[in-house]
Amino acid sequence: MSRTRTYRCLNCLEHTASREFDTSHLSVTCPNCDSFERFVNEAVFRQFRAFEESPPVELDWERLERTEKLFISERLVRSTKTLDDFDVVEGDAPIGE
Ligand SMILES: [Zn+2]
Repeated sequence: MSRTRTYRCLNCLEHTASREFDTSHLSVTCPNCDSFERFVNEAVFRQFRAFEESPPVELDWERLERTEKLFISERLVRSTKTLDDFDVVEGDAPIGE
């Protein structure tokens, strides 16, 4: 009665891997890209995709780098943070904490 989690390759966005533990991401070699890639938790990826289709009004979503978008998605899915916890500012200033 194990509960597996799905992780998706951030390079090709096609290959997924299943693991029996729950973490924010894995770093494994993707058999599809044939390179060592970051695999993100599918729940985080779903949140990311949802924001891509319907950007949150609280953030200047389109201006963010993909890594920042994933970071925010990850925090929203995997912690108690809400969009109000993120301050998106000009330049290279860090977002969230
Ligand atoms: Zn891949």
